[in-house]
Amino acid sequence: MGGSHFETRTVCEIAGHGQPMPVHVITLGNPDPSLPAVGFFGGFHGLERIGAEVVMAYLQNLATRLKWDSTLHRQLETVRLVFMPMVNPGGIRRGTRANPNGVDLMRNAPVESQERVPWLIGGQRLSPRLPWFRGALGQPMEAENLAVCAVVTTELLPRRFSLSVDCHSGFGVNDRIWFPHAHTRAPIGHLAEMHALKDLLQATLCNYRYIFEPQSSQYLAHGDLWDHLYLQSQQQSDHAFLPMTLEMGSWTWVKKNPRQFFSLLGMFNPLIEHRQQRVLRRHLPLLEFFVRAACSYTRWLPAAAGREQHREEALSCWYPEILSASTP
Ligand SMILES: [Zn+2]
Repeated sequence: MGGSHFETRTVCEIAGHGQPMPVHVITLGNPDPSLPAVGFFGGFHGLERIGAEVVMAYLQNLATRLKWDSTLHRQLETVRLVFMPMVNPGGIRRGTRANPNGVDLMRNAPVESQERVPWLIGGQRLSPRLPWFRGALGQPMEAENLAVCAVVTTELLPRRFSLSVDCHSGFGVNDRIWFPHAHTRAPIGHLAEMHALKDLLQATLCNYRYIFEPQSSQYLAHGDLWDHLYLQSQQQSDHAFLPMTLEMGSWTWVKKNPRQFFSLLGMFNPLIEHRQQRVLRRHLPLLEFFVRAACSYTRWLPAAAGREQHREEALSCWYPEILSASTP
C-alpha cells in the first residue's frame, strides 16, 4: 500500500515450526540524521496481538493518506518514521507471551535491578517453562531483541531528538503510558523532557485519559529493553531519546465480555469486533501526536529555567519520596 514511500526490510528471521518467520522493519520519511525520528514497536509479547494491530492500523492510515494528503508529505520531509509492528512473530504464531525459546523479550536485556523486584513477574532465570523467563545467565540477547537494538541504535539514537512508543496490553482497566526506568525507582536523566511531553500530550489530547507515569510507579523488573536502550542513549549528552510504552488496559474488555476470562487471548485482546475497531481508532490520535511532537520538538523541549521547573513538577508528581528526602 505504501508503494515507493515505504522501505521495508527483514532484520532477522526466527526459526520455528515450519517456515522461518521474518521480523520486518518499515521506514519512511526523511532519512537525514539531523532530523528527529519516531519509532513504533508492537508484538513483543505474542499474546498481546492488539499492540501489533494498533501499530499496523497507524501504518495503514499513513499508507492511505500518502495517496492524497499533501500535509503528510510535507510533514515527512521533516521527520523519519520507523516501524517494527511485530517484533515477536514466533510468539504471535504460537499464542505465547514469550518468544519460541520461552524467553520474555521484555526481561531479556542486560539490565539488573539492584532493588526489590516482584517474584517471577520481575523476571526469573529458573525455567523457560515459567512466565517472565529472562534467558540463561551469560547468554546474548535473543535475536528479536538484537534486531530491535540494531534498528534503534542506527535509526533513533544518532539523532538530536527521537522518541519511541511500544504497544502492549493487559495491565488494569486504564490506558497507561510508561517511561523508564523499570529497573530502579531512580528518575531518568530526561525527567524534565518527559514531563514537558506529558504536559503537551494532556493539553493537546485533553479528552483522552492516558495515565502517564514511570513504569517504576507500578513495579520494578530486570532486563527491560527500553531501560537498556535508554541507558545507551545517555552516552550522548546533547541527545534526547524518550522511549515510551503504551499499556492498553484490557480488563475493561474482559469486564464487558466475561467469557473472555476463559481464553488466554481474551485476557489481552478485545475479541469483539466493534470493541476491536474502537481500540484501533482510539489510539490513532496518540500516535499522530507523537509524530507531531517529534517534528516540532524545538518549540516545546524545555531549556534552562523551564527545564528546572519541569523537573521539580515531575518530582512532586512521580517521585514525592525524593522531594521529601531533599527538603530539610
Ligand atoms: Zn506486553
